[in-house]
Amino acid sequence: MTHVERQWIATGEQQRVDPDMLVDRLPDYDPRTGDHLWMIVTSYRVVPEQWQDRTHTPMLDRENLLSITVPCCYYCEQAWTKRLASRRCPGEPR
Ligand SMILES: [Zn+2]
Repeated sequence: MTHVERQWIATGEQQRVDPDMLVDRLPDYDPRTGDHLWMIVTSYRVVPEQWQDRTHTPMLDRENLLSITVPCCYYCEQAWTKRLASRRCPGEPR
């Protein structure tokens, strides 16, 4: 376990998941502001059969956490740096 990983899982946060729930709150890129959308992508190991079982409550927590990325922009797909953050987001990967 790395120092960075310990920081993230030490929060004790758990995410309950409804099998029918899809979360898509990604706002469209706004060329007027040129704001980046900084995000961290996490991935979890899942058992699809349990995901569909209504008697089972799928959890996204430390037991099935697989990876956490560095902060990156959803629109331009670049990893965060101070320099990039000070510039307008081009909105598309270059
Ligand atoms: Zn960007």
